[in-house]
Amino acid sequence: MRAGMASSGSLTARLLSLYSPCAASAAAAAHSPAQLNFVHGRQTIPDKSTGGPEFDVVNPATGGLLCRGQASGAVDVQAAVKDAREAFEGSWRGLSGSERSQFLLRASAIIKERREELAVMEVKDTGKPVYEARMDVDSGWQCLEYFAGLAPTIAGQHIQLPGGSFMYSRREPLGVCVGIGAWNFPFQIACWKSAPALACGNAMVFKPSPLTPLTAVALAEIYTEAGLPPGLFNIVQGDGETGQLLCSHNDVAKVSCTGSVGTGVKVLQQTAPRIKPVTLELGGKSPLIVFSDCDLDNAVKAALMGNFLSQGQVCSNATRVFVQRSVCERFLERLLDRVNAIRIGDPQQDGTTMGALISQSHLDRVLGYVQRAVQEGAKLVCGGKKYVPEDPSLKGGFFMTPCVLAECRDDMQAVREEIFGPVMAVLAFDTEEEVLQRANATDFGLAAGVFTKDLTRAHRVIAALQAGSCYINNYNVVLMEMPFGGYKMSGFGRENGMATVDYYTQLKTVYVEMGDVTCTL
Ligand code: NDP
Repeated sequence: MRAGMASSGSLTARLLSLYSPCAASAAAAAHSPAQLNFVHGRQTIPDKSTGGPEFDVVNPATGGLLCRGQASGAVDVQAAVKDAREAFEGSWRGLSGSERSQFLLRASAIIKERREELAVMEVKDTGKPVYEARMDVDSGWQCLEYFAGLAPTIAGQHIQLPGGSFMYSRREPLGVCVGIGAWNFPFQIACWKSAPALACGNAMVFKPSPLTPLTAVALAEIYTEAGLPPGLFNIVQGDGETGQLLCSHNDVAKVSCTGSVGTGVKVLQQTAPRIKPVTLELGGKSPLIVFSDCDLDNAVKAALMGNFLSQGQVCSNATRVFVQRSVCERFLERLLDRVNAIRIGDPQQDGTTMGALISQSHLDRVLGYVQRAVQEGAKLVCGGKKYVPEDPSLKGGFFMTPCVLAECRDDMQAVREEIFGPVMAVLAFDTEEEVLQRANATDFGLAAGVFTKDLTRAHRVIAALQAGSCYINNYNVVLMEMPFGGYKMSGFGRENGMATVDYYTQLKTVYVEMGDVTCTL
């Protein structure tokens, strides 16, 4: 056995036992650092002497400690990258796409079988309602199946050239790719990064957010159970420093990071000295434009889906809702009815439609934005307050009521900056030309939407919007077939869809001479 490796049973089972209120050892286990790294097909204990600080993993719905983690340092990063490189250079890179796809299909089947336990684990880690966590798990296995289907189709080109010569191209894997995840969709992000990386013939070392370290480890375990050769999907837990060690490691060929713009800038700086390709899925302040001729009920539903899923902690959210002045009042009335029907509470309960924000400090930050918006002249239509559920076990949770701000202006801080919480800003507009100018007046460019029954206007407006992921008469629909990613400071590169293959492979072109060499010297 390698140094630092533990041989206990299923990590998923062990992690779940930490969550079980009747597990006798739960309290004791919660206070000792969990073995959350995963290298060479096994859980590993982070190296204490070179590691960073220990961190608490907290259940956002209760404020209680789930377990403790240890940030990985140079020794763990080196071990994980070296192991991934050996796995990549072993048989993996030489397999055909259809051979690789079999591992993804088997892993997808296991995820489907474990849907409920994975969802429960994700709820404990994130505070999101269980019905949403199930959707995230579904998005995970759908991603594995999509890229399993795509893997056998990854191909180059053959082009006939003058004189019988020809060229062909090969789509080759990059090597060891690093995935860095945010805390809002931990399992989904781990799937969205690992599935295309593996389908394209790469290995991946993944670093989850220290706030939500659990389900990525469960995914690693599932890949192992599916027979994926050890080392192809390794996990190192840690903070920004761990991420930096991964980004700047000489044997890392590519980095895909989901996070804030600030982190995206750092990742670019860290990868620049080695000219590494990077995919950045960053933040947003996306516009939803509601014209007066639209189906208003659908627009209201889309605004809800575009603001309050996962407690508003969604990068693509339409947090600037521009409503044509003539229907603004009606829009707000119908919106208020539906917002009032949102059921905040225990995220493990099926009927709950809004859970807890990720941490106390994030809750304070979001509430601060609401307070300043009101000071700047926004009208608080509803919500924006800390919420304490009746259930005594949830008293320590990080809940707030969903907030709608009306009479907003473009210069308000809450309208300019990404809040990343359940706060919708409603802005009235008069003309198409005006709203386009205002919608585009941001450094972000992740997503955008338009509601109208006027077909030509819908396409004209979408063509003029500066955003990577756009919607007509809907919002925040995420499907594996649709490439997802941003314009401007929301990042570059794409996840999902066939476009992803371009970001996890490199293209080699080969000229083949069929005649004599023409020499002009
Ligand atoms: P952060 O940017 O704080 O962190 C993202 C990840 O990067 C974390 O794992 C973090 O670790 C790590 N990290 C921090 N510093 C570095 C570094 N120097 N080098 C490498 N990695 C580093 O984002 P959050 O986790 O707070 O997530 C919220 C943000 O993510 C929002 O802005 C949101 O819009 C964006 N996001 C974008 C999505 C998209 O697809 N476009 C989807 C989901 C979220 P640590 O936490 O320890 O700092």
